Amino acid sequence: MFINGEWIDSSSGQTFDVLNPATGEVLGQVPDGGTEDAIAAIDAAYEAGRSWSSSTAYERADLLQRAWQLMTERADELARLMTSEQGKPLKASQFEVGYGADFVRWYAEEARRITGDWLPSGRKDQRFLSIKQPVGVVAAVTPWNYPMSMLTRKMAPALAAGCTMVLKPAEATPLSAKAIFDIFTDAGFPPGVINMVTTSNPAPVGDVFTSDARVAKLTFTGSTEVGRLLAAKAGASLQRVSVELGGHAPFIVYPDADPLNAAKGAAALKFLNAGQACISPNRLYVHRDAADGFIDMLTKRVNGLVTGNGMTEGVGVGPLVDESAVAKVSAQVEDARAKGAGVPVGGKRLTADGLDNGFFYAPTVLTGVRPEMTIYREETFGPVAPVVIYDDVDQVIEMANDTNYGLAAYVYTQDMKTALTAFEQLRFGIVGINDVNPTSAAVPFGGMGDSGIGREGGHEGIAEYLETKTAGISLR
Ligand code: NAD
Repeated sequence: MFINGEWIDSSSGQTFDVLNPATGEVLGQVPDGGTEDAIAAIDAAYEAGRSWSSSTAYERADLLQRAWQLMTERADELARLMTSEQGKPLKASQFEVGYGADFVRWYAEEARRITGDWLPSGRKDQRFLSIKQPVGVVAAVTPWNYPMSMLTRKMAPALAAGCTMVLKPAEATPLSAKAIFDIFTDAGFPPGVINMVTTSNPAPVGDVFTSDARVAKLTFTGSTEVGRLLAAKAGASLQRVSVELGGHAPFIVYPDADPLNAAKGAAALKFLNAGQACISPNRLYVHRDAADGFIDMLTKRVNGLVTGNGMTEGVGVGPLVDESAVAKVSAQVEDARAKGAGVPVGGKRLTADGLDNGFFYAPTVLTGVRPEMTIYREETFGPVAPVVIYDDVDQVIEMANDTNYGLAAYVYTQDMKTALTAFEQLRFGIVGINDVNPTSAAVPFGGMGDSGIGREGGHEGIAEYLETKTAGISLR
């Protein structure tokens, strides 16, 4: 754990193992923290905030710039660690390190753009001034699926704004968080500005984070279930709250789209990180006229995917995070199969060829998926592409919007009017139009409904860490 600039053991002296999900091997041990440690981390962040909050934007920008440089220099070693700990193929880890580093660079630049306003008054002898100040101590809770970029997406804007931070990383990926903390420490961030408590039992730490009056903001990325719980507790403490939660993305293929191009896009997107992405498509709506070509191409692509240890050259799909993830994916596929879905490829756990100690599920296509199947409503978080055939173009937006989630949606069409109408009518925070990567450090990312509150990235991302203060000034 990292508290007040030092790597320390937990107060109980206990540790827990970190596993490689591809092999089941133990990669290392980390301290198993609890409430006392969480309080010590907040003590350190609160004390450090006294001077950090009045550092100049130029100082903060320079430190972030240095952290970006170090992250870029250490990209290979970071990617290897991430693949060992989280499982995604090495190329995907390299991509994530780049994506994560980009938040650090973007917010190094944004730090210097925190400005205020000089505002008009109805009174001749009065002026108004409004300024932005850091909110204070930020408590962050992050997931395992993108263990570095989900962290820098919070850390970089919080630090750029002048906030200090306490982090609880996911229990499956604390080593990735440690490596990012090493970089920020080597970059020269002062002791106490960033603090981290690792734990195998998150609830007590979450309780401290959401009830300590010195914590001004909770930022969480993870499941809707846990996000709802933490947001309610943080709300009771009147902490500011941002929660980036689960999703159930529709992927609409209009009849005028090139079905082969759309299927290639769907295959590239759906099997990223073995489907363990919050923006992963969970319902592929394909117009009946395009269905045969689409399903053929998707099946062909999926047949060509190699599943295995992400360290092995040529592997495109890694393991799932743990046994319960395999069980969940398997149950959704079996439910769909029992209710009549076709399974042209995949549909089983993989254990042969040295995969028996890991958590591997075959990349799968389901056809004939219908609303009564569990997979139509519940987030899968696994390598399964459910294809739903539709007939009426006028109804497909309504079908796509028929979910409590609202994170990402995708549209394939060659018609500008269809694309823009869909963009405006889809009730999702992020829409890919003939595009499977609608994310960047420069743009807002976040959801509606059960997918969360708030935005990360872009100009909005730093606003989440700033408080507005107004002065009324009399000239009398
Ligand atoms: P999770 O909710 O189980 O865990 C997320 C984090 O919350 C972890 O650090 C975990 O230790 C912690 N946590 C769990 N219970 C807690 C409690 N009672 N108190 C405090 N902390 C607690 O989710 P996960 O399985 O790690 O991540 C997968 C989910 O995250 C998916 O639903 C996915 O869609 C979502 N996700 C969303 C985004 C986004 O930006 N919207 C990005 C990545 C992942």
